[in-house]
Amino acid sequence: MQLRYNFRVYPEPSQRDALAQTFGCARVVFNDALRARRTAHEHGEPYPSDGELSKRVITLAKATPERAWLGEVSAVVLQQSLADLNTAYRNFFASVTGTRKGRKVAPPRLRSRKDNRQAIRFTRNARFTVLGNGRLRLPKIGDLPVRWSRQLPAEPSSVTIIKDAAGRYFASFVVTTKEDETLPAAGSEVGIDLGLTHFAVLSDGTKVTAPKFLRQAARRLARLQKAVSRKVKGSNNRKKAVVKVARAHARVADTRRDWQHKLSTAIIRDNQAVYVEDLCVAGLGRTRLAKSVHDAGWSGFTGMLEYKAARYGRVFARIDRFTPTSQTCSQCGRIDGPKPLSVRSWTCPCGATHDRDINAAKNVLAAGQADNSNDRGAQIRPASMSAPRHEAVTHPHAARSTRSVEGISALQSGEDVKPTKTSTESRPPPPAPRATPPAPSSPRTGQPRSGPPRRTAPPQRAP
Ligand SMILES: [Zn+2]
Repeated sequence: MQLRYNFRVYPEPSQRDALAQTFGCARVVFNDALRARRTAHEHGEPYPSDGELSKRVITLAKATPERAWLGEVSAVVLQQSLADLNTAYRNFFASVTGTRKGRKVAPPRLRSRKDNRQAIRFTRNARFTVLGNGRLRLPKIGDLPVRWSRQLPAEPSSVTIIKDAAGRYFASFVVTTKEDETLPAAGSEVGIDLGLTHFAVLSDGTKVTAPKFLRQAARRLARLQKAVSRKVKGSNNRKKAVVKVARAHARVADTRRDWQHKLSTAIIRDNQAVYVEDLCVAGLGRTRLAKSVHDAGWSGFTGMLEYKAARYGRVFARIDRFTPTSQTCSQCGRIDGPKPLSVRSWTCPCGATHDRDINAAKNVLAAGQADNSNDRGAQIRPASMSAPRHEAVTHPHAARSTRSVEGISALQSGEDVKPTKTSTESRPPPPAPRATPPAPSSPRTGQPRSGPPRRTAPPQRAP
C-alpha cells in the first residue's frame, strides 16, 4: 500500500526564499489553468485538454514577459500543480454525479498567497534525491536539512514540501510499502462506540476517557486570538500574532493525533476485526455539540483504524449509522425504544442490565460480524491519515509534543501522485534513500530516532 512518510525539514533562509518562489509559481499556474477552464465553461466550450492547458499556462506562458519567471523553478512542480487541479475537478465531478461517496466536494477554488498551507510536489522526474549526508536535494531549491525520525522502507516516488500555517516545513514522501505486513492473527474482535462522555467504549468493557486537549488549550487560544484582534490590520505585529495562534492550534492537533495513534495502534494490534459506528460527524459538528465533536476528532481516529487495519491485515468496517445500537439489548436483541442521553444504564425485560455505551459497543460488534459474514463489511479502503513519529512507541509526554505532524500516513483517496509524463528520458532509478545517519537518542523517549517503524513494540493501551 502507498503510505506517506512525513518529516520536518529546516530550510536555510536562501532555501526558504527559493521555496516561496516555487510555491508562488505553482499557485500562479494552478490559478491560470483554473481561470482557463472557467472561461471555457462560461463560453460553452469544451474543457481544454491537459496537454493544451499545460502548453498554454506553462510552456507558452514562460515565453511571455509577464510569466517569464516560471522558467526559474522546476517544471515538474508546475506540472504537478496542474495535476492537482485535475484531481480537484475529478473529485468535484465524481461528487456531483454521485460516484464519490461522502460529503459534497466543492469545485476548485483559486489559490491565495494567504492560504494556510502551501505545498509543492516533486516526482522522480524532478530528480529529487536523498543524499548520503541525509539532506534532501531538490532541483533549483538546494539541499534541505531533514530530521529523519525513521527510515524510508523503499525508494519514494514523490516528495511534497509543505509549509503550514505555523511556518513549519515538512517533507512528505510517498512510498509503496511491501505487500505483506500482516500481523499474526489475534483471537478477539471488537466493536467501538464513539461518544462524548467517553471518547470510545469497547465491547470488551474498556472505557477510554475523552481527552479535552482543545478545551484545556482554549483559554490560551482565546488570549492569543484577542492579541491578534488588538493589532492593526496588515501590521507586522499582527502577522506575528497570527502565527502564534496557528502554532498553538498545531500543538493541540499534534497532541491529539499522537494520542489517537497510540490508541488505534493498540486496538488494531489486539483485535482481528474492528467495527465502529459510522457517526454523522459532519452533522454533529453543526450542532451545539460542535466544540466537543471537534475536540474528539472521531473521523481522524476512525481513519487511523482504517488504514492500519488495511496495512496490517485486519478487518475494519463501519456500521450503518441507522442501526439502533443504543436501543437494542445485546443479550436478547429486543429493541427497547429510544433512550435519552441521560439514561446511562437500563434493564431489558429479559433481565439483562446494560451500561448504555458498552451495550452499544456490543451491538456494533454484532452488527459488524453479521455484515462481515455477508461480505458487505469486509471492504477496506484506506483513508487519509497522519501517523505518529514513533508509530508504536509509547510517548510518555505526548501532551507536550509539538512535532508529531511527522510520521506515516495513508494517501487520500483520489490523490494524484503519479509521475508526470513530461519527461520521457530514461534513467536508472535513484539510489535508495540512505539510512538515517546514526541518530542520537531522543531525549524524551530514550528511543533511537532512526530505524524502521516499530510495530512489534506496541504502546500501552491508553487509559
Ligand atoms: Zn434483553
